[in-house]
Amino acid sequence: MTPITLRELADIVGAISTQGDDQTLVTGVNVDHRQLRPGDAFVAFVGERVDGHDFVEQAFDCGASVTIVSKPVKTQAGPIVLVEHPLTAIQRLAAHERSLFTGPVIGITGSNGKTSTKEMVAAVLGRLGDCLYTKANQNNELGLPLTILQRTPKHRSIVLEMGMRGVGQIAQLCEIAKPTMGIITNIGHSHLEILGSQEAIAKAKGELLLSLPSDGRAILHAEDPWLRKIATSSQAPVVWYGLADTSDVFASDIQWKNEGMTFTVHANGQSHAISLPTFGVHNVRNALAAIAVGLEVGLSLQQIADGLASLEALSGRLRVVEAPGNVTIIDDCYNASPLSMTASLEVLAALAPRGARTAILGDMFELGDYTEQGHREVGIKAAEFAVDRLVCVGETAKWMAEEATRHGVPHVHHVPDTSTAMERLFDWVKEDSTVLVKASRGMQLERIVERLLESP
Ligand code: ATP
Ligand code: MG
Repeated sequence: MTPITLRELADIVGAISTQGDDQTLVTGVNVDHRQLRPGDAFVAFVGERVDGHDFVEQAFDCGASVTIVSKPVKTQAGPIVLVEHPLTAIQRLAAHERSLFTGPVIGITGSNGKTSTKEMVAAVLGRLGDCLYTKANQNNELGLPLTILQRTPKHRSIVLEMGMRGVGQIAQLCEIAKPTMGIITNIGHSHLEILGSQEAIAKAKGELLLSLPSDGRAILHAEDPWLRKIATSSQAPVVWYGLADTSDVFASDIQWKNEGMTFTVHANGQSHAISLPTFGVHNVRNALAAIAVGLEVGLSLQQIADGLASLEALSGRLRVVEAPGNVTIIDDCYNASPLSMTASLEVLAALAPRGARTAILGDMFELGDYTEQGHREVGIKAAEFAVDRLVCVGETAKWMAEEATRHGVPHVHHVPDTSTAMERLFDWVKEDSTVLVKASRGMQLERIVERLLESP
């Protein structure tokens, strides 16, 4: 963060009152006193279990320059800034920090693939110089501003994942981030429960397009019919990416290798070979979005290829690991939706020969009215991708099991929860097989992955 004085900070956040020396220098922002660096402003949040106001003294002990509070505290240990809403204060500080940056800022949203795409875009933009990007999944109204506040003069670009649970949220994140480019990976069914229809989801994600300046770029997945529809709302020119040669940036010769995927990218009349150290055609799509960004900032296809080759594996997201007994695990238990289940079943089919394809799939949450249909569709996909053994874990996974049986998957099992699945795991997972493990995060299927890794 660019250093500011307490006076400047108070003006930016619209403080109700301040106490302490106006010239105190603030060099960062932190909401966790245990992670404070000297000079940081400590922001006291009232959480469900802890109240940051109880840690004001400790924060000053750890070197906090000031503490931002939303209720009066009695301390003489250091300067205090009283505000109405601490979260708003952080957001305003982030918006201020953003306004000082003149390089490219890339906002990424979509139902699936935001984090994967973000990592790829960051790997590509790393070729320009240091890239500031969302750590892990810090994609909400707090994580995004805290990310921006990590900016230093070294950073040449900023990449921000933008998550969404309702209408207006992407608009709010964009208000702070002012992206110069926006990527939308797809419009799926996640959060249907809250938003009611896929059209509403498309509109909510489309808020990213509305925020782009006319000299910016919208980078959109060409094979998504909803994105085709909402693209017209973008003032910024659209760059389409996809597998078909009608897209501006497209891939051909997609191949599955032991180390990941290879393909040839075509854009602006040029072609280049790309190696991607991760699996899945969906990741080829994510890489195309990253390539589009790289070209927009003036990198060569060779520089972009080098950036993508340097990518590191993301934990829990489609990691391929070997377990005892010649069992290959496709660990994708980070989260799940019908689209991402399909993407992962495709990976299973590509990596495992017929006869060795096992899928342990659990409940997908937050699908609202689409819950039953979504699970049924995954059951049908399991048959289409010739899964030999399908283990369905959880309440709603029963619909997957029903449909898979009806469509001819040879062995289908249904268990009510993860613990029961753990007990019977080795009845199902045989030697020399490949096992896809995937469900919504809350199902905790990573327990199954751990168990398989430590077998027998
Ligand atoms: P979250 O909403 O939890 O932040 P996310 O959008 O960041 O999720 P990732 O974490 O990148 O998504 O990927 C989650 C899963 O979605 C992956 O493990 C993979 O199965 C699937 N996935 C990734 N990219 C795509 C894509 N482009 N299309 C469909 N599915 C995808
Ligand atoms: Mg994510």
